[in-house]
Amino acid sequence: MTTLPETTRKTLGLVIDLDTCVGCHACVISCKGWNTENYGAPLSDIDPYGPDPVGTFLNRVHSYEVTPEDAAPFTVHFPKSCLHCEDAPCVTVCPTGASYKRVEDGIVLVNEDACIGCGLCAWACPYGAREMDALAGVMKKCTLCVDRIYNEHLPEEDRVPACVRTCPAGARHFGDLGDPASAVSHLVRERGGIDLMPEQGTRPVNKYLPPRPRDALAPRPGAPASDPSTEGLTGFLGWIDRTLSRF
Ligand code: SF4
Ligand code: SF4
Repeated sequence: MTTLPETTRKTLGLVIDLDTCVGCHACVISCKGWNTENYGAPLSDIDPYGPDPVGTFLNRVHSYEVTPEDAAPFTVHFPKSCLHCEDAPCVTVCPTGASYKRVEDGIVLVNEDACIGCGLCAWACPYGAREMDALAGVMKKCTLCVDRIYNEHLPEEDRVPACVRTCPAGARHFGDLGDPASAVSHLVRERGGIDLMPEQGTRPVNKYLPPRPRDALAPRPGAPASDPSTEGLTGFLGWIDRTLSRF
């Protein structure tokens, strides 16, 4: 079980429910639309994207089949974007100071005016969360939609990251993980939210809620009985270690 944050410093982030995500990619498209889409224009019928199409996605969803030895296989849809780490290696390696973590709310950002497009931060990030914008020549990443969440010109319900606003399954939650009383902190405690690859020492702010044990995970005939309260989480943690080590 994840422990309470040690401070009450405002620390904005996402809590992503891997039990609920259905892998529809709506969050990917809404992120792309809000953050890295160009002005809309009719596409040509012939070769609409030109000879060398490029694109920048700040949020991706990978889908995996998990095959436990003693239970039925199941699918996990795994959304991944910047985790706004407390000890962010992408910030410490940046030679120009373009990458930084905001003191006021913990969001990790890139100052595109100072970015020289060297790509060092992308090499340093253990989660593969940064994307070079080949057209702009600068590094891009999830900003937690910083231009939405404080935007008083938007209706209040839209002042959340685009992915959270769009997710039809309610699998994405946004809030202050530095506040032990916030809804997201409650969720993390109740559901045993986990850090991705904690051995990297990055202390990611974003948390993942593991899949709940379910009927489909019942032991195969003849398999030893196991504790349903821990089986799903233990199996999942093993899977996540194996999967992320491939990135
Ligand atoms: Fe930096 Fe990667 Fe952590 Fe985001 S997930 S703060 S890009 S190290
Ligand atoms: Fe999963 Fe929600 Fe993204 Fe769909 S929109 S892929 S349900 S997180």
